[in-house]
Amino acid sequence: MTTTQADVDVLIVGAGLAGLTAARRLAGAGRRVRVLEARGRVGGRTHTVRLPLTGVSVDLGGQWVGPNQPHVMALIRELGLEVYPTHDAGQNLAHLLGRTLRYRGLIPPLPPHVLADYALLSARFERLARQIPLEAPWTAPGAAELDAQTFESWITRHAHTPQTRALMRLYAGAVFSADASELSLLHALTYTAHGGGINGHTLTRGHALQDRILGGAQSLALRLADALPDVRLGCPVIRVERNEAGVTLHTPQGPHRAGHAVVAVPPALLSGMGFDPPLPPRRAQLQQRLPMGAVVKFMAVYERPFWREAGLSGMSISERGPVTVTFDNSPPQGTPGVLLGFLEGGEARAWMDRPGEERRAAALESLARLFGPQARYPLETVERDWAAEPHSGGCYGALFGPGTWTGYGEALRAPVGRLHWAGAETARVWMNYMDGAVESGERAAGEVLAAQAAR
Ligand SMILES: Cc1cc2nc3c(=O)[nH]c(=O)nc-3n(C[C@H](O)[C@H](O)[C@H](O)COP(=O)(O)OP(=O)(O)OC[C@H]3O[C@@H](n4cnc5c(N)ncnc54)[C@H](O)[C@@H]3O)c2cc1C
Repeated sequence: MTTTQADVDVLIVGAGLAGLTAARRLAGAGRRVRVLEARGRVGGRTHTVRLPLTGVSVDLGGQWVGPNQPHVMALIRELGLEVYPTHDAGQNLAHLLGRTLRYRGLIPPLPPHVLADYALLSARFERLARQIPLEAPWTAPGAAELDAQTFESWITRHAHTPQTRALMRLYAGAVFSADASELSLLHALTYTAHGGGINGHTLTRGHALQDRILGGAQSLALRLADALPDVRLGCPVIRVERNEAGVTLHTPQGPHRAGHAVVAVPPALLSGMGFDPPLPPRRAQLQQRLPMGAVVKFMAVYERPFWREAGLSGMSISERGPVTVTFDNSPPQGTPGVLLGFLEGGEARAWMDRPGEERRAAALESLARLFGPQARYPLETVERDWAAEPHSGGCYGALFGPGTWTGYGEALRAPVGRLHWAGAETARVWMNYMDGAVESGERAAGEVLAAQAAR
C-alpha cells in the first residue's frame, strides 16, 4: 500500500473520549480522519441513559470530574457544557467491623489509636507516591521492590489495626474497582500520584468527585462526534495490517486505509485483534497483562432523596457488601432521589454471574442497612455490569499487577511504526479517568502530527 491509496490521513479505533479527542485535534489540524467504533454508539465507558419509568437521566459509566483535572474541564468548557456540584451536604456513613458510624469530613470517628495508625499509614503511602515519576513509574527509586509486592501485602505488613486495613482496602475498591491483592504496590502508588494523593481521588470539593456534567458525561462524546465528518458505528476493527507506507484496518464491512492509525481501546481488548506483522513481543505481552477491573454500577430511584431528611449525605463506605460505596446521585434539582451504589472488585465478581433479580435484591438490602427500610422500595432501579460489555471487558480501567510496570511499562505508549496508542490506560496523568482519556487523545494526535511533519 502507498499513502496515495489511503482513504483518509488518520484512522482512529474507538469512539470513546480518547479516540474522539484525537480525531478532533487531527481534524482541527486539517487532517482527514475516520473513526471506527465497534459499538452502535459513541462514548465507550461513558453512557448516559434516561430511565423509562421516572424519566431521570443517569450515567452508567464515568460521571465525576473535578477542578484538579485540567484536560476534561477544558473540554467541557470548549464544548459549551456545564457542570453541577455533587451533593455532599449532611453526614456520611461508614460501616466498619460491624458498626455503622455517622460523621462529617474525611475520616470516620474511629478510636484515637486507629486514627493515628491510619494517619501514619496514609502519610507513608503518599510519601512513597510522591517519588514516582508519573510518565515512567519503572524508573522510581526502588521500583523493582515496589513492583514485586501487592498493595494488599503492603497494607497487611504496615497497618496495625483492622479498621486501617479495611479503609485501605475500601480505597482500592472505590478507586481501582479491584481488590488490593490484584494491584502491584508500584501501580497503587502511581495511580494515587496521578490524582495528587488519596484525597485527590476520593473527595468532592476541590477534588475528582466535585462535579457532574449537566446532561450526562456521554454528552462529551456525543458533541465531539457531532463535529466530526466521519464516525462509523458498528464497525469493529478485527485485524491491523501495517507496513512502511501506512496502515490497513480490517472490519467485517471491509478494509480502511490510512497513513497512520490511533488505537484508542482498552489494551486488554487488543489481544483479540490480529496484528500483521505481529506486534513487538514486549507490546504484545503488555496487552496480555492488563486485565480490566470489575464493577457493577447500581442505582435506585426514589420519589425524593429521603436520606437528606435524616441529615445524611448519601455518601457511605461499607466493609460489608455487596454495595461497598454509595453516593447521592439525584439530579441537580434534587428530585427524584437517586442512590448510587458500587459493587467493586471481589464483590462484583461474587455477584456478576448471579441472576439480575438476586443482585438487585442484595444491592437494595445493602442500601436499606445503611439508609433505612425505605431504601428497599425504589420506584425504579438500573445497573450496568461492565464486565459483561464485550467492547469494554470491565472497568474502570486496566489493572497493573506485580511486575507489569517494571517489565512492560516502556511499551505502553511507544508507537509501533505508524500505530499510535491512546486511551485512558495510556494517560500520563489521571490514568483510567476521563481526564486521562482526553490527555491521551491529545498526546497521540500530537505524535501523529509530529511523525507526519518529520516525513
Ligand atoms: C462504572 C464506571 C465509573 C467510572 N467513573 C468515572 C468517573 O466518575 N470519573 C472519571 O473521570 N472516569 C470514570 N470512569 C472511567 C472513564 O469512564 C474512562 O476512563 C474513560 O471514559 C475511558 O475513555 P477511553 O476513550 O480511553 O476508552 P473507552 O471509553 O473504553 O473507549 C474505547 C472505545 O473503543 C471501542 N472499541 C473497543 N474495541 C473496538 C474495536 N475492536 N474496534 C473499534 N472500536 C472498538 C469501544 O466500544 C469504546 O467505544 C468510570 C468508568 C466506569 C465504567
